Amino acid sequence: MFEIKYCVLLLSLSLLVPYISTSDGDKSPFYQKCLQKCKNFNCTLDGEFTAEAAKQQELSAWLLVWKCEDECRYHCMWRTVQGYIERGYNIPKFHGKWPFRRILGVQEPASAFASVLNLWIHMKMYKRIITEFPLDDTPMIMFWHWFAWVCMNAWLWSAAFHARDTFFTEFMDYACALSMVMALLIAAIARITYLRGRVLGAGVVVLLALYYAAHARYLYSGRIDYDYNMKVNIFFGACGSALWLWWAARRWAAARYVWRLGAFTALSALFLAMELWDFAPRLGWDAHALWHLATAALPGLFYRFVIDDLRHLRQSRAKMDLKLP
Ligand SMILES: [Zn+2]
Repeated sequence: MFEIKYCVLLLSLSLLVPYISTSDGDKSPFYQKCLQKCKNFNCTLDGEFTAEAAKQQELSAWLLVWKCEDECRYHCMWRTVQGYIERGYNIPKFHGKWPFRRILGVQEPASAFASVLNLWIHMKMYKRIITEFPLDDTPMIMFWHWFAWVCMNAWLWSAAFHARDTFFTEFMDYACALSMVMALLIAAIARITYLRGRVLGAGVVVLLALYYAAHARYLYSGRIDYDYNMKVNIFFGACGSALWLWWAARRWAAARYVWRLGAFTALSALFLAMELWDFAPRLGWDAHALWHLATAALPGLFYRFVIDDLRHLRQSRAKMDLKLP
């Protein structure tokens, strides 16, 4: 009940918050003047490169669709950072992000690399599940197929967003990241209610899906309050973790393999604390990139728990079938 009330509150807030994120760096007069000058000099009125400026763009940047204003923002960002360093100020954020040196047009190379690593590990573990568990012979297997696809999709869009920050890749990254967090909560509900209480479980999942649709709509409005979005992710992540831990504690005596679930939940919380630390990049790695790098260790733990649990469910069903006349 508390959860439903909280969801309704979050949903109402999500429709009310008219907020656009700015940061110290992009608010500074130096950056603003630089941006205006750069655009006047290099961009046409409809935002395209002038013929002269187009010749100077790197091929990799052109391939990753860096538009004229994007290029101006990037170059003015670094000129502003230089000014801050020369005056002994702390490095500022720009439009909610730390400044990163792009590599081959990739805007945030460390986070993009770590996202691809996460995607690869999910694919590897998903292949193990496909190989071992046939569709017609394993309880809950279809659910885990869905779960793995939700996660792989989320990491794909995370990689796309960190490679190139556009309105659409940002929307997809934020919407798909929440889908992965909520999939973990739904997985807990599905597993807990698998033997008893499926109707109640299905009802809660429908409510979660409705909330998700409303939040995705809010994200698509383009007026994202990043702190609020983070709180939504933390709330659903905490709900999922609490449910999994409660279930694992109850199962511990009968099924020792749940230790991996406990380790997965504890490490997820620890790594998230690192993300919330939010320090400026060192050698191209900020807290967010390191968080993505650290989370690459998690799918191995979680999917190995899933594999053990699927084996357990299959054996339990085989025993029940033997008892039937
Ligand atoms: Zn990210």
